[in-house]
Amino acid sequence: MSDIVSTVPWCCGERNCPSQWHKSTYWCYDDGTYSCDRYTYGYHENVQQADMPSPEEEVNAWKGYACYVLETGTDPLYEYNVKHTRSVKESYYAQVKRSIAGPRLVLLRRGRIEVPLDEIPQHVLDWLNIPSPSPTASRPLFLMGMDWSHFIECPEVHVWKNDNGIAAVRFSLNRKIPRSPAAVATDLRKAAQRHLSTN
Ligand SMILES: [Zn+2]
Repeated sequence: MSDIVSTVPWCCGERNCPSQWHKSTYWCYDDGTYSCDRYTYGYHENVQQADMPSPEEEVNAWKGYACYVLETGTDPLYEYNVKHTRSVKESYYAQVKRSIAGPRLVLLRRGRIEVPLDEIPQHVLDWLNIPSPSPTASRPLFLMGMDWSHFIECPEVHVWKNDNGIAAVRFSLNRKIPRSPAAVATDLRKAAQRHLSTN
């Protein structure tokens, strides 16, 4: 049997280290020996009992880490549980034209803004079942796996009154997008502040 006795964050201060902070785990074994996994990478060095951090040292090391998070608004060890994404609802309007090769997207707007056909986000292409175009291609965008009669029967599809083979579609997509780094930093600072005031 073995057990983790303590976990201690430490700052390496290496110029080329993007994370700066690492976690050491200290282990003890049934036979009374100890080891330290300095980077928590699974590489253990034997240590003496005297090298094991005291509970107070462990608490203080975590306070030091919290101060770093408070100062920088970053959490390189992913210790603080803050939201990194937020949910958004996007409303789209599309015009789809009848053609021999199948329904073809000719216009797309998000809200009131027209989206250039070669800049349609992947999740929208997926929803419309359009194979992703290569970045340089200006080829027509066909809705795959659907013929015109099936397409205009879809519940989201509204066919124009003066039907000249163009159908208008409105649809909404819910998705998660990254929060701004500043918003994440604010929450990290609050969490670190809480940690410091309760320990
Ligand atoms: Zn480092």
